Formats: sequence, structure tokens, C-alpha cells
Amino acid sequence: MNEQLFRAVDDRVDELVALTVDLIRFPTVNPPGDAYTPCAEFIARALGSRGYETRLIRGEGTPGDNDKYPRTNVVARRAGRGPGPTVHFNSHIDVVETGDAWTVDAFSGLVRDGKVYGRGACDMKGGMAASIIAADAFMAVYPDYPGAIEVSGTVDEESGGFGGVAYLARQGLFSKPRVDHVIIPEPLNKDRICLGHRGVWWAEIETMGRIAHGSMPFLGDSAIRHMGAVLHAFEEELFPALDRKQTRMPVVPEGARRSTMNINSIHGGQTEDYFPGLPAPNVPDSARIVIDRRFLIEEDIAEVKGEIRSILERLKRERPRFDYAIRDLMEVLPLMTEQDAPVPRALAEGIRGVFGKDPDYVISPGTYDQKHIARIGHLHDCVAYGPGILDLAHQPDEWVGIDDMVQSAKVMATSLDVLLRGAAA
Ligand SMILES: [Zn+2]
Repeated sequence: MNEQLFRAVDDRVDELVALTVDLIRFPTVNPPGDAYTPCAEFIARALGSRGYETRLIRGEGTPGDNDKYPRTNVVARRAGRGPGPTVHFNSHIDVVETGDAWTVDAFSGLVRDGKVYGRGACDMKGGMAASIIAADAFMAVYPDYPGAIEVSGTVDEESGGFGGVAYLARQGLFSKPRVDHVIIPEPLNKDRICLGHRGVWWAEIETMGRIAHGSMPFLGDSAIRHMGAVLHAFEEELFPALDRKQTRMPVVPEGARRSTMNINSIHGGQTEDYFPGLPAPNVPDSARIVIDRRFLIEEDIAEVKGEIRSILERLKRERPRFDYAIRDLMEVLPLMTEQDAPVPRALAEGIRGVFGKDPDYVISPGTYDQKHIARIGHLHDCVAYGPGILDLAHQPDEWVGIDDMVQSAKVMATSLDVLLRGAAA
């Protein structure tokens, strides 16, 4: 436990709260990707005044990028006094839409009863502020630190991260030798280290039919009835099989500690738009569903796809005139950083120092920007760690606790001490 570092964080609580409030006041709602540039410019100014070299980098040509809604990222670096590794804190600046159920202003940054309220307070502007203050405290106590500290504010995490971390990773900004260790202050709770996430496969399944007059359906072939057979097979075979697939990944919440699948949407038949209130009088020749299959480190993506395909193939053999197509929409492989990699070890040291206990190691049910750092940057010493209660993310009246931010800033400052100065872990 490093009392000096902890005191340096405690001395900066007002600044930490003010920074969180300032960040919340930018309504960086995605989609469409509002206020990205002013928010990134604000962060660049805040870090520039702390001695960082800063760059604004636009994710040119990435999904959603245009002159009205440019995908503006900020990357900042503050080199120390000698050679050494680089520790990078990456936070996304985008937030999801507010929804209607708020009882406080979503973008005023209200401070009340030890909490800062607002869209993005928890996910993850509070985490970003905590990481900046952690670095401030560390640099104040150890002005001659070796290596470098980087902080980035990136866009579009909530929509896949293509204009943000993925774009920057393609420019080499998340690879060795520039960067060695990455901490993503996502709201996973202050005493937990998130080592990675389950895999994702999104696909569209279409069943085919033949159009005919709705009064004589026997002359056609209903794609919707064929899709009904697919859904029936999923209910009877697939969902029970997924429930049985347990994992050694410590996914939270515990309900996600197995394979899951959501059916995101279903569309079938002709559109009703032409005749408001009136359905088309036809036998549907097409029906489509989009599936969102989340899979485990123990599962191979080829098996995951094969499981669905074998059900569809069996229907094709057994069901007259059944035909289908399947289209991949997105795939992300599962990720799990080892517990004894340098970043989780350094954070564990901080958690022991602040809370007097070992961390819980968790896996996120859904993906986040770590995927791009691993797949594109080939950097594997990366985890998510930050303040904020995961369940509050994306909810109305989202908040982050001030004490939680302070404690997690102490954990992050300790991890800088371990990673850059080699303090005993
Ligand atoms: Zn987030």
C-alpha cells in the first residue's frame, strides 16, 4: 500500500468530480455520434495542460463518419524521464441514448449525495476521469517516472468501435513497441478485473417460399411457415443444448456463464407500408431472422455455426420444399487475458492495497473495445477495470459514486507504480 500515492489521489477529489461533470456535459450520444469533436477537443485541452502531447484523429470513412458527425478521437501521451514501458488508459467517449425515464437532467452532471448523475457517468466518463486523476497523482509523486503514460478518448464503442479503437489500432496506436499495457476503465465494479468477453456471431437466416394469392395458399409455399419450423427446432433442440454448455469463463452475471442466443428480429412476407393497416394478400416468399449467438472460450466458431447449419440441413431433408440461406453479419472470437499477465497483476496489487482483499476476476457477457486491441493491435496485456456499477450502465438516472471513483483511481495509480516503476507486486 502506497500512502503517498493514495494521499495524492485524495488531494484531487474535487478535480476528479469536476472533470467527470465536464465530460458528462458533452451529449456524446451514439448514434448519431453527437458532440464528439468538442468533447475530444476538451479532453485534448485538459491533457495538454497536464503536459501530454495530444492528437485528434478522425476515423475517416468509418461507419457513421461524415462532416456533420465526424468520428473524432483523442490520443495523448506523456513521456517520462527515461526508457520504459507505456501504459495506456483507453476510454470511450460515446454514450447511448437516454430514453424517457430520467428524473434528473441527463447532461447537466448533477452532483448529489456522493454521486455524479448523467448519461455516461458510469459508462464510462467517471472511469475516464478516474484514470486521468490516477495518472496526475502518480506523476506528482514520481515526476521522474520512466516510460510513458497514454490516455485516449475514443468514439463509437457502443456501435462496435470501428471509428474509434479499431481505426486507431490499424494505425499502430495499440501495438508494441508504442504501447505495452492497456487498461480500459469500463464500469466493471471497483474490486473486479474483467479479463475479456464471450464470443459473438451474428447471422441472418432466411427461409424461402413461393408467392401466390392469399386465398389459395396451397398454390404457393409459405416462407413464414418454414421459419416457424426453424423456430420450433430451436426451441426443442438448440436452446436446451445451449443451456447445457457451461464455461470455465467467470462471466457475470452468472446467467451468462453458458452459451446463449437471442433472436434479434423477425421479418416475413410483403411489407404493409403500401396499404397502411392492410396486410399484403400474398403467400410470403421470404422470411428472415437475425440471430445473436454468444459463445464460450471452449467453443470453436466453426462448431457454433455448424450447430445451426445442421438443424437447417435436417429440415431441408425432412420438410418438403424447405430451403434457406444463411449470411454472416459479424463475428468476434472470445477473449480471456491470463490472470497472471502484467496488467491484471498490477491491478490486483492495487485492489489488495485499497480493499485489503484479492480481486474478483470476471468476464463480460458482451464485447467491448478490448477485441480490437487484441485482434488488430495484437496486444494481449489488456483488461477492463474501472469504477461504476455495471448494472447501471445504459439505465435511466445513471450515476457513478464519488468514493468508487476515488478508490479505483488509487487502484489505477498503484498499477502505474507497479508497471512503470516496478513497485513490488
Ligand atoms: Zn462502456
